[in-house]
Amino acid sequence: MFDLRLDEAADWIISRGYARVALQFPEGLKSKAIEVSRRLSERTGASFFIVGDPCYGACDIFEYRGTADALVHFGHSPIPSQGDDPDVMYVEAFYEGDIGSHVSAIADSLPHKVGLMATVQYVPGIKRAREILEAAGKEVLVSGGDARILCPGQALGCNSSAMPGEAEHILFIGEGDFHPLAAALGTDVEVTVLNPITGEHRRIADLKDRLLRRRFAAIERARSAQRYLIVVCSKKGQDRTALADSVIRKAVSAGKEAYKVRMTEIGPDALSVYADADVYVITGCPRIALDDSARYSKPVLTPPEAEIALGLRNWDDYIIDEIRSPQSGLK
Ligand code: SF4
Repeated sequence: MFDLRLDEAADWIISRGYARVALQFPEGLKSKAIEVSRRLSERTGASFFIVGDPCYGACDIFEYRGTADALVHFGHSPIPSQGDDPDVMYVEAFYEGDIGSHVSAIADSLPHKVGLMATVQYVPGIKRAREILEAAGKEVLVSGGDARILCPGQALGCNSSAMPGEAEHILFIGEGDFHPLAAALGTDVEVTVLNPITGEHRRIADLKDRLLRRRFAAIERARSAQRYLIVVCSKKGQDRTALADSVIRKAVSAGKEAYKVRMTEIGPDALSVYADADVYVITGCPRIALDDSARYSKPVLTPPEAEIALGLRNWDDYIIDEIRSPQSGLK
């Protein structure tokens, strides 16, 4: 169902003479890791190991040097602004199914000017969706993103720069809620999510509304906080130290105490030890605050949300935290 391009990976390993190769998978593909390791080992004769740590994006590329000659990273596209490493091969795991009938089924319900977006696995579906929608008389818009985005129309959970500005409606091709929600938070235009496997489709306005209510509640809880813990993530594509320093300056100017902690894996257990902090501000992956905050005992805010809690920004000016290129900090 998803193209793991094992023949191509094997040819790449053989042609470059790699003897030791690390294999990195996101959580959703780890069930394939042993089979991939076996098949590549049979084809190439090289020695492989699977990176066991969690991985949620190409922002978190395993540092293979020292333990391997090369890395094959599955499930994500490169983030161009992070630079090119000839010893890393990315396998996006593109979906191989045909989404044509699913798009046809909803074409009539969409307005005239439709923007298309997708998570990377379903980027090939953008071309197919365009064919179907144009045949149905729609005007279809697909935009390139900034330097963190490889493919036109591609969305990261932290970057919706490929959102077509002129669209009357966004058709988002992907599974799960987070990516389309992140896109929906960055626009007033309605977003329909199409699950390319099941054909299920839904508008996301209610979910967006519920998320905004939860964010409002978290910000309100944080308004009386005195001690801010600003969390920096040391993963290559999530390290926004300059942004963290800016939040600290703002918190101190607003009469708060502010401390900085740096870590690789941000989670409830890792933060709960700082029991005398009143609020956590996450400058790493925006998903942590938006998706996972119910798992934390203290309010977890993004940097723009911290500005609201500090009285420096109005709720009416709420913006989603995105990691843009060049890393934009607060927008
Ligand atoms: S920072 Fe988060 S949303 Fe962005 S690429 Fe990394 S894991 Fe995905």
